[in-house]
Formats: sequence, C-alpha cells, structure tokens
Amino acid sequence: MKTYRVAIVGAGPAGYFTAQALNNSCDNERNFLIDMFDRLPTPWGLVRSGVAPDHPKIRTVTKVFEKIAAEPNYRYFGNVELGRDVHISDLEKLYDVVVLATGTSLGKKLGIPGENLPGVISAADFVPWYNGHPDYVDVNPSLTGKYALVIGAGNVAMDCGRMLALVSHELSSTDIADHALEVFHNSSMRDVTIVGRRGPEHAAFTSPELRELPKLDQTDVFIDSQQITEAIARVGNRMESEKDLRSNLEAMREIAHAEHRGNERRLSLAFLLTPLEILGDGKVEQVRFSVNKVIDDKVIATDESIELLCDLLISAIGYEGLEIPGVSNERGRIANNDGKVREGVYVVGWAKRGPSGVIGTNKSDSSEVVKKIIAELPATPKGAVDISGSLSGEKVVTHDGWSAINAAELSAGEAVGRPRRKVVSWSELLSLGGAKAT
Ligand code: NAP
Repeated sequence: MKTYRVAIVGAGPAGYFTAQALNNSCDNERNFLIDMFDRLPTPWGLVRSGVAPDHPKIRTVTKVFEKIAAEPNYRYFGNVELGRDVHISDLEKLYDVVVLATGTSLGKKLGIPGENLPGVISAADFVPWYNGHPDYVDVNPSLTGKYALVIGAGNVAMDCGRMLALVSHELSSTDIADHALEVFHNSSMRDVTIVGRRGPEHAAFTSPELRELPKLDQTDVFIDSQQITEAIARVGNRMESEKDLRSNLEAMREIAHAEHRGNERRLSLAFLLTPLEILGDGKVEQVRFSVNKVIDDKVIATDESIELLCDLLISAIGYEGLEIPGVSNERGRIANNDGKVREGVYVVGWAKRGPSGVIGTNKSDSSEVVKKIIAELPATPKGAVDISGSLSGEKVVTHDGWSAINAAELSAGEAVGRPRRKVVSWSELLSLGGAKAT
C-alpha cells in the first residue's frame, strides 16, 4: 500500500470535492492523507461567505464537507495563508501533490468614470459583508437612500438585488451576520433594479433563481413585458431546442405578466443598458446608461442614453483571482493546462476555470482533475510530512478548533431561533479556535 500526502489549499467546495474524489479513488494499492489549508480560521469557502442567507438549502452541502472532515485521513490547517505563512515551494517539498482551490475573490471593475464615488461597491465586498466574513465587516454599506442599482445579469446580481429588496424580518431567521441584519433592518431602499447590458435571452441567471421571485410576498417584481416579447421573437426556434433558454424566458414572461400586490418594495430587472458613467456630487446619485439593441444576436449601442437614480450601486460583473506567489496568473485565474499547473501542482474550482458554475459544478470538475492527479502520481511517495519547520503550530486553527467555533455559533443561533450566529471578528475566531494571532 502506498500512502500519498496531498495538500489542498482552500477549504471551499472545490477543495472538499477534491478530497472526496481522492478518497473515492483509494484502493488496495494506494491511499491519501489530506491536509487542507485555508487563510480563514473557518472552512467552507463560498458556502459560508458567498451563498445568500435566504438560500439555506444550498448550504446543506456542508454535510458532505463535514463527512470528509471526519475521516481519519483529513487534517485542517485554518488561519494559514499561502504566500504569507507558508510558501507553495514549502508545500511542494513536503507533499506528493499540491492542489490549489483558492477561488477568485476580487470583484471585476466596471472601468467607467465615477466608480470610486462613495456608494459604489462590488458584490465581491457586499456579499461577504452580509455573510459575516471577518475581512469585510467594515464594508458597512449605507442603505439610507431609496434607489439601488445592481449591475450584471447573473446569479450574484440576483442575490444582491433580492437581499436588498427583502424585508428584514424575512432575513431574521437566517444566518446572516448580525451587523448586516441591523443595516437591512434600518434600510430605506425601496426600489432595486438589476441591470443587464444584453437582452433577456442573454442573461446569466438560472431559472430556479428567477422562479423564486414571484414567491416574494413583501416585494413586487417588475420586468418590462415588451422586452421579453421581443427577446422571445428574436430567439425564434431556439425556444424549442434550448431548454435553459426557454425556461429562463418563460420565467421572465411570467414575472412580466404577474399581478402586483401593491408592496412598497420593488425589484425590477432591466435589460439592454450598458453603464457609461456614474454621476454624483460626493456620492453616487445617478448612473448614465447607453440604450442597446440586439441585431443578429449581437448587442449594439444606439445613440440613446438614459440616466437612472441611484443611491447605492453594486457591481456584480464577475470575479478574478488574487495573485499567488509562486504561480502565474492568467486572465484572473491560475495558469493551468486542464487543471495541471506544473509537476505535482494542480488547480481546481474557480481558480482553475474562472468564476462560473454552481456549487455542484465543482464536483465533476474536481473529479476530472483528480483523475489526472492519479494518472500522474509519482511511483514512490515522499513519506511522512512534518510541516512544523515551515509553519508555527500555535497559529493554526485545527479541525477541533473549527469544531469549537462551529459549536459556539450553532448554540448562539439556537438561543435566538436562528440556524447560527456567525463570529465575525478575527480575534474571537482565533481565540475560540484555540490559535494565536501571530
Ligand atoms: P456571471 O453568471 O458570469 O454573470 C456576470 C454578469 O455580469 C453577466 O450578466 C455579464 O454580462 C455581466 N457583465 C460582465 N461585465 C460587465 C460589464 N463590464 N458591464 C455590465 N455587465 C457586465 O457571474 P456571477 O453572477 O458573478 O456568478 C458567478 C457564478 O456563480 C455563476 O456561474 C453563477 O451561476 C454562480 N452562482 C450561483 C448561485 C446560485 O446557484 N444560486 C448564486 C450565485 C452565483 P455579459 O453576459 O454581457 O458578459
């Protein structure tokens, strides 16, 4: 029996699905010891700090992660940042295989005038803020105005728009961060518009997300029915042959024709508008958009432009990865060849393919990379790993440390009828997790 040591950097879905695929490929000839590293004291990546709090079902995948973490071949090293606490070359020396599952945490920039005005924030900051990521507590967006615009027609834009449009009591039984619940509770935002630059037929929303909009009972949802009728006419026969497209456009048509309840809160989906300039005196006040049209499935700007009122602008137009010392970055992701970075180093998840796909997409993606890893395993494993020379044990939050944080959050939540109350300060996370800050 050969025992291979694998370091997985990043404890999000792609990292866990990699561990699962490695475990599934153990046989009489080989097995794996898995060390998982994360820069946060807490694991679960985007499942903890990305998934919207009003989508608790999506979070149930943590049961799978917990099962993997309970296996005797798994160790967790939280509060360990690659490049700061340990260099990739240290891991390469110690482990037979290093898998990078570091995601893409930076929000893409709109690159238009006014982007630096107060009141303009990226979903890459807004989402982890409401989810209690300890690095984003100070984002503290002002929700004191009435009009919010969310740029982008993908599921992240949808999450941000929906969160802004909900009544705070709809969030009070979720695991949203306490600080965010308070800000949403005092929010005066009443008119939220999600704006796509292309047509309804090009939107990146998935239909389950669209189909939950009519179920919001405290918020009226609007789509211009003419935009949908025109989009359906443009796609023609593709309505029959492309199931996802049909499902999206049908969901949007239903919303466009739905009766409104007369709620004070409005959530609108608008299309064919490209943001040109963010205007305001000392803070965002309006956004100027070019009005676009679709010709032969191509989106082109007309001579027309419009200005929309805006007290808060969230850009949700995609992500790119942070540079990691020791690996090259290419178009916002880690340069790789079908998951291989170099001999013994692999990449999975958004860091590999860019920010696309739902959580489950990472399962098949990680499995494919693990097939490659197995095919390329060295004939002789390196032997026992002693990481203490490269990393001070005192600063590490182990799996037991995380379990203590988890238990504290769950019991604090239970006391107030919520699934969990997240600990959002670094010092408290480290102290609960039994680790030192340095
Ligand atoms: P996305 O699905 O790629 O959508 C990005 C949107 O931003 C697109 O509509 C894109 O328009 C637009 N965009 C890009 N650059 C722009 C610019 N300069 N100006 C205006 N608009 C611009 O990305 P995402 O919403 O960040 O989501 C990432 C992945 O996570 C997706 O696969 C998504 O499904 C997934 N996710 C899933 C869930 C869920 O399952 N509930 C929740 C959140 C996220 P173009 O198409 O014109 O480029």
